[in-house]
Amino acid sequence: MTETKSEKGRVVIVSGPSGVGKSTICKEILRKLDYVYLSISVTTRPKSEEEIDGQDYWFISEEDFRERIDKGLLLEYAEVFGHLYGTPKDKVDEELQAGKVVILEIDVQGAIKARVVFPDAVMIFIFAPSKKDLAERLNNRGREAGEIAEERLNGANAEIAAAWQYYKHMVINEDLQQAVNECVQIIEKTRAKT
Ligand code: 5GP
Repeated sequence: MTETKSEKGRVVIVSGPSGVGKSTICKEILRKLDYVYLSISVTTRPKSEEEIDGQDYWFISEEDFRERIDKGLLLEYAEVFGHLYGTPKDKVDEELQAGKVVILEIDVQGAIKARVVFPDAVMIFIFAPSKKDLAERLNNRGREAGEIAEERLNGANAEIAAAWQYYKHMVINEDLQQAVNECVQIIEKTRAKT
């Protein structure tokens, strides 16, 4: 974690359990608000078939990732389900300087670190309507094998517990458009205040 320049824009952190639909929600917010930039993380996780390098993530080697940590190029990073994920600092700074709202779609550990750098970050946590629903979404997504989906489902408990402590805004993703609209409203309200 490194110091960052004073900025003009605002950071919005979006977290939630794996499979809850965070990525879809963030992409929809991006479509609706032209002043939003969605940060693209670097990760050592293998790319799935439907993902695009440089669009969903920058898929890099562990060596490359460690080098970026050493050079102070990451705003925050964390190990999630056995892989490293991190937020590139330069691009976030650049977009904030340009006055953009920058969305970081990151896990709770990373969010806690990012909040130290951006104390006025808007914190949004996305919930599934129920644990059963989350399990179904994880299984239907078919991206990970049953064992990994199970691990991710178990990880949801810890994330949700932390959510009550750190996140001011809670959004339930029962209906996608409604969840997107709620996030858009939160962002617009906080932007109006700055
Ligand atoms: P997935 O493998 O499902 O794409 O992501 C797994 C978890 O890593 C999700 O909770 C996601 O929000 C989180 N994540 C993605 N990018 C970053 C990042 O740059 N930093 C941190 N700390 N977590 C991230």
